[in-house]
Amino acid sequence: MGLIVQKFGGTSVGSVEKILNVAYRVIEEKQRGHDVVVVVSAMGKSTDSLVALAKEITEQPSSREMDMLLTTGEQVTISLLTMALQNKGYDAVSYTGWQAGIETENIHGNARITNIDTAKLKERLNEGKIAVVAGFQGVTAEGEITTLGRGGSDTTAVALAAALKADKCDIYTDVPGVFTTDPRYVKTARKLAGISYDEMLELANLGAGVLHPRAVEFAKNYQVPLEVRSSTEKEAGTLIEEESSMEQNLIVRGIAFEDQITRVTVCGLASGLTTLSTIFTTLAKQNINVDIIIQSVTGTSKTSISFSVKTEDLKRTVEVLEEYKDALDYEQIETENRLAKVSIVGSGMISNPGVAAEMFAVLAEKNIQVKMVSTSEIKVSTVVNEGDMVKAVEALHDAFELSKQTAVI
Ligand code: ADP
Ligand code: ASP
Ligand code: MG
Repeated sequence: MGLIVQKFGGTSVGSVEKILNVAYRVIEEKQRGHDVVVVVSAMGKSTDSLVALAKEITEQPSSREMDMLLTTGEQVTISLLTMALQNKGYDAVSYTGWQAGIETENIHGNARITNIDTAKLKERLNEGKIAVVAGFQGVTAEGEITTLGRGGSDTTAVALAAALKADKCDIYTDVPGVFTTDPRYVKTARKLAGISYDEMLELANLGAGVLHPRAVEFAKNYQVPLEVRSSTEKEAGTLIEEESSMEQNLIVRGIAFEDQITRVTVCGLASGLTTLSTIFTTLAKQNINVDIIIQSVTGTSKTSISFSVKTEDLKRTVEVLEEYKDALDYEQIETENRLAKVSIVGSGMISNPGVAAEMFAVLAEKNIQVKMVSTSEIKVSTVVNEGDMVKAVEALHDAFELSKQTAVI
């Protein structure tokens, strides 16, 4: 007998029928003798609908009121699931994030969890109750309600599992595990039996939406055994752990991709020693997340710097650059939209030089132009035209034989 945290995502609780199915999955664990904490997301696409409602009122809603609005989505699900459990004769109780003791920093829209006061949850578990907790939300020391960023219910679940020292955290979703790439786009994608925390963290950060990056960070830091699995099928999912013993030690483990990337080029900058720091300190102070950076030094007194941002951040990026034009001392800004980032990830890359070269050769053979590149020990990212994104992923998936590798079990 142990303690299990189960998390069910939006698609898994998208209708009353699905909520009843979730209740059944929860009861199964309870019947096995485990203590159970359940974390749920808002039903289906209801968070998107709430965002759309706010947009009907104003283009720039205040971030505090957005959090107040979006947290209602999860509150609907916790109460309905708890009613379903009670109706089947189980003692269950629902909690919003603040009631469950989830404390966050004082930032709206993308807050980090700073502490979890588990006293109340532990008491309820000791009484034999099933605790149903709203994902994606917390409360600041000042009593303000916050959200953890889109997809953040995963993080609620893993953070609770860490704080409660749970034996396991199961993430139930609409795919049966973590695949070599997004199975919605690439039909030959293969389900992985296991993957390391580090590889999963890279994939999540590079756009694989199956897990929220901070959830993987928590799992790694607190060594929480994590499994991604199907909410409708019974088959085993994908284990995320320190080193995967379930898969061969491959060079490339998976491919992540992300569209709606824009390249910004600041031309005619004075090529002084402080140019780079001035420009990126200015952007960082305005909370603009810059990704890949390329500086072209031409040997003259002028230089230009290109960097990529999410397209949704472009307007603000340009506003900030224009506001600080005098201090930054540049001639003009150029932007290129409709780009995408395609990344290969695998811990075997550390000891295998030439993987980046192989990636570029595959893309060149398909006539795909690479516009920017960035590498780390376990990944290579390229920026390509958005229209080439899926073609690039398919070609790389093929070339690195990701669908063929068989699990070692
Ligand atoms: P939930 O509502 O359960 O949180 P999400 O939509 O956030 O579900 O995550 C599941 C989706 O993640 C899948 O439907 C799939 O399209 C996408 N996805 C992206 N990359 C991967 C991958 N490598 N493996 C599995 N799913 C992936
Ligand atoms: N409901 C939130 C979202 O749609 C959080 C989550 O699903 O994890 O982003
Ligand atoms: Mg999700």
